[in-house]
Amino acid sequence: MTHRDPVLMGPGPCNPYPEVMEAYARPVLGHLDPDFIALMDEVGDRLRQVFQTTNQLTFAVSGTGSAGMEAAFVNFVGPGDTVVVGVNGVFGGRMCDVAARCGAEVVRVDAPWGAPIDPNDLIDAHPSPKMIAVVHAETSTGVRNDLATLGAKKGDALLLADCVTSLGGIDLRIDEWGVDIAYSGTQKCLGVPPGLAPLTVSDRALTHLRETPQSWYLDLNMIAKYVTGGDGARAYHHTAPISSLYGIHAGLGALLDEGLEASFARHQAVGDALQAGLVDRGFELFAAEGNRLPQLTSVWVPEDRLPDGATEADVRRSLLLDYGVEIGGGLGDLAGKGWRIGLMGHTARMRNVQLLLASLDDILV
Ligand code: PLP
Repeated sequence: MTHRDPVLMGPGPCNPYPEVMEAYARPVLGHLDPDFIALMDEVGDRLRQVFQTTNQLTFAVSGTGSAGMEAAFVNFVGPGDTVVVGVNGVFGGRMCDVAARCGAEVVRVDAPWGAPIDPNDLIDAHPSPKMIAVVHAETSTGVRNDLATLGAKKGDALLLADCVTSLGGIDLRIDEWGVDIAYSGTQKCLGVPPGLAPLTVSDRALTHLRETPQSWYLDLNMIAKYVTGGDGARAYHHTAPISSLYGIHAGLGALLDEGLEASFARHQAVGDALQAGLVDRGFELFAAEGNRLPQLTSVWVPEDRLPDGATEADVRRSLLLDYGVEIGGGLGDLAGKGWRIGLMGHTARMRNVQLLLASLDDILV
């Protein structure tokens, strides 16, 4: 089997920072080795900086972003609880599914795909929900949803935010905005391979922690004793994915060395350049102006620019195999008609924007 090295400009994973892959190659330590515990503590400190929070329970869940989603629901909601969920794309829909499997009563608030959710629609959906859940950056559409207004108006509800595609790429202020529970994924704007789900939980949310959540593996009562030490020594719960934690430690280091603001500015600059370049070439942007993500661009593909007899999927295949550039297909209305192009983490570079646009100039008619 040959091993290729494409530029990953799909909706995730992105190309990891070089220092992340170097970290993966380091010798494996035991999960209770003092040096590993120190590294895990540093991961928590670094995540607190990136999430802009002082939440003590801030760590990387073993598993991809969806494990973070499961952990965020299963530990806080169960039968009899009402959960209001905003849906303007695939991942809001997934949240409804996960919440329903916890036995919660789900009040689903839909907005058109491509448009943001009006926070007041979520606030007005139920007088006293246990939780309000929303996706900050919808990877299926390229739309940013407002968290700050929800945080200000949430009342007694817990505010849960999916920050899989936003963390590290756009402004996200957990404490200032009043977000109680947030999870992310490593493979997007953190520039790390998939495998971990950063999670942060406010002290207020911890007072609602279920005593015996239905999931053993994701039980925060038990995991907290390992990741934070709690009152005593670290207690084994499950074997930490050691090398993945080396990777996120290095990725967060790269991000903090660059600076959060600088990273946001870099993502914005490349996103703007890509979106302008695509519009110049006859593409139409899908996400509503004002709520467009720079790190995920969704576009309608102009049919009259496809080579004779070719589909948009043929063009994506040629980009990947002939030019070494991966981009994503559309979802929902965009399926078969549009693309999703990511500029996340280490991939968010002007050289990659230019590579993609030049490759398209070669392929399109
Ligand atoms: N939420 C959002 C917004 C995502 O973009 C994704 C993945 O693309 C997920 C959740 C699920 O994460 P994963 O595929 O890492 O399990």
